[in-house]
Amino acid sequence: MPLKESEAIVLRTFPLGEGDRLVSFLDRQVGRVRGVARGARLPKSRFGSTLEMLAYIRIWYFERETRDLVRINQCELLESFMDVQRDYSSAIGFALVSEITDSVLGEREAADAQFRLILLTARAIRVHGPSQAVLAYFCLWTARLGGWLGSLDRCSRCARALQLEPAFHSAGFAELFCADCRDNWAKSISKEALSVGRTALAGTLDQLLKENPPLGPTKEILSYTLDVLERHIEKKLISRKTFETGESAIG
Ligand SMILES: [Zn+2]
Repeated sequence: MPLKESEAIVLRTFPLGEGDRLVSFLDRQVGRVRGVARGARLPKSRFGSTLEMLAYIRIWYFERETRDLVRINQCELLESFMDVQRDYSSAIGFALVSEITDSVLGEREAADAQFRLILLTARAIRVHGPSQAVLAYFCLWTARLGGWLGSLDRCSRCARALQLEPAFHSAGFAELFCADCRDNWAKSISKEALSVGRTALAGTLDQLLKENPPLGPTKEILSYTLDVLERHIEKKLISRKTFETGESAIG
């Protein structure tokens, strides 16, 4: 059983047995991995607070040839976000980021860009709170990295530019259509929402935040992107409902 050492981000953990924890984490080199942290729920556990949601850690674990679950030997905290999660709305934002990442990534598929995106998002939530713009940026880029987002610029049937008009799409489908090519039952999405999406995908999160995009269109593009992600994973995100219910408090 070789011991592996890597940087990782803790995605989600679940109680296991008497005092153990099942941990889903994103290994920076290997991708998403699941493992067992023995005794992690016992008092004075050697894991301390290293297994909190989105904790950025150094991890040592044993691969087991015959089993899917690795055995986590030791963790060291590189950056903690525990302080951020004391704020309820930030904790909901973190839950959304971790549930989405855990659901969309294949097991052991290298995902360094997603790794950097999570860190960027968690740090932005620390500074700016779980704003709609921060989460829209995270979701748009998660969908782009996964290859599930098409062009936000053109009608995918006739290639007409969509900058000056609303576009249409079927719920959960990324493909956008102009008014002439739309199906009758299609949902509309405003040109302002598409503009926020284009800004997010063309530049950095800092640039997006500097532009201070209007709340309504930002919510709209976030909702469109969450629909696309949910369709891809073929289930509803549990944390989405909590986020959207509490969003009147989250600007
Ligand atoms: Zn068209």
